[in-house]
Amino acid sequence: MLEQDLTDEEFQPYFEKAEELSKFFREIGPKYDAENTFAYPSIKAFKESGLGSLPVPKAFGGPGGNLLQASKVISELSKGDSAITLAYNMHYIMVGIAGNLMSEEQNKYWLGRVADGEIIFGPFSEQRAGFSGLADMKAIPQPNGGWKLYGKKTWGTLCEAADIITTNATITDAEGNLPEDFQERVNAESFFIGDFNLDENGQGDGIRIEKTWDALGMHATGTQTIHFDGYYVPEDGFICEWRSGAFGVLEWASLMFASIYLGMQYRVLEESRATLSKKTLGATFGAIVAEDTKVSGVGHIIDGIGDMASRVEISRRVLYQTCQELLDGKDDEWPLELRFPYIGLAKTFVAENVMHMTRHAMSMVGGSSFRKGAIFERLYRDSAASMFQPLNSDQSRTYIGEYLLQPEQLND
Ligand SMILES: Cc1cc2nc3c(=O)[nH]c(=O)nc-3n(C[C@H](O)[C@H](O)[C@H](O)COP(=O)(O)OP(=O)(O)OC[C@H]3O[C@@H](n4cnc5c(N)ncnc54)[C@H](O)[C@@H]3O)c2cc1C
Repeated sequence: MLEQDLTDEEFQPYFEKAEELSKFFREIGPKYDAENTFAYPSIKAFKESGLGSLPVPKAFGGPGGNLLQASKVISELSKGDSAITLAYNMHYIMVGIAGNLMSEEQNKYWLGRVADGEIIFGPFSEQRAGFSGLADMKAIPQPNGGWKLYGKKTWGTLCEAADIITTNATITDAEGNLPEDFQERVNAESFFIGDFNLDENGQGDGIRIEKTWDALGMHATGTQTIHFDGYYVPEDGFICEWRSGAFGVLEWASLMFASIYLGMQYRVLEESRATLSKKTLGATFGAIVAEDTKVSGVGHIIDGIGDMASRVEISRRVLYQTCQELLDGKDDEWPLELRFPYIGLAKTFVAENVMHMTRHAMSMVGGSSFRKGAIFERLYRDSAASMFQPLNSDQSRTYIGEYLLQPEQLND
């Protein structure tokens, strides 16, 4: 495991930087949501903030921020703008996942570059089946060592800012045939890291970006398609077998996603309070018949804001406590098979609550929230993305249910 021993006191200036950057993301966010493109000015600002190096251990040139500290920074940034932050979230996810799986030598080189300000991303999901589908992308062994990668990844968040790529591909025979045996195919699926040197048109050597991102929300993530057409990875770009490696450190994905949606919850509550505490309906006829109706005095609005604030507080506790339990090694007490879904619960809990909150905010604010440009319609669209990133609710419950229904577990 990476040594991450930044004290709370040492962390404070990093959090203050996050508060500053969050304000900038908040300012520029609406423009890039409307234009449906990556938020380009965020690159310089993110690099200058120095926040990208936060989780890099001191031994590799960073401050050594831990999971909980990274979570706090991400939520703070997401409170400013969730779409822009979801892009940089991929950087934190991949520093955490790759950093915990790379050799000392690889970490010195790659995390050393991250400590110097470079940005890393991770396109893994493919079209057939996102993250859980075994990679159809091929890594064909080369006569002089290393592999050439062929295939495409349809979810390349942050590609327009990244300097380093991590991805997964299945090692084939010399002719490019995937293993026919299922278990062999699982074992052959591998985790790679390499340079992401592209020109201003998104063209590189054996690799290119195709701009396909056009979705309901999270516009500024710039989640484009990445084509691999003979992209060369030398032997020292091999990290480990993908499934057995990544599934042991997926807290860096799941809990970072949870942090995005906790930050979004903060924002939903903030915007709802700001609007509903001031809104006046004037003379009304209907459920309330009165000369002058202030929304902040209406029963279901008072209850609604209380409900929202309760969900935020409980979500924060679930996320922070899950991070803390992992930092304290309490996950050792969980059944091994349940480690992944138990970590995933924090993400699914926060995700379900943020979707509930964005819908409820619109119903309380009323029709004006539905108009384009209103922050509430934006939060509603963006929150829908929380359904998809791993783990989703259905799969978490499947993992847990399957485990509990095994006859031998009934004796425990
Ligand atoms: C804004 C955004 C940005 C993203 N950025 C990235 C990125 O940078 N890198 C990246 O790799 N991915 C990224 N993703 C992709 C995301 O991780 C995928 O949505 C996820 O991998 C699920 O894949 P899918 O949505 O294609 O669904 P599918 O995998 O096609 O799932 C379809 C259905 O099958 C079910 N299902 C799938 N597999 C199983 C299984 N094994 N067991 C039981 N049920 C199953 C699902 O629950 C779902 O109901 C991003 C997604 C979004 C929304």
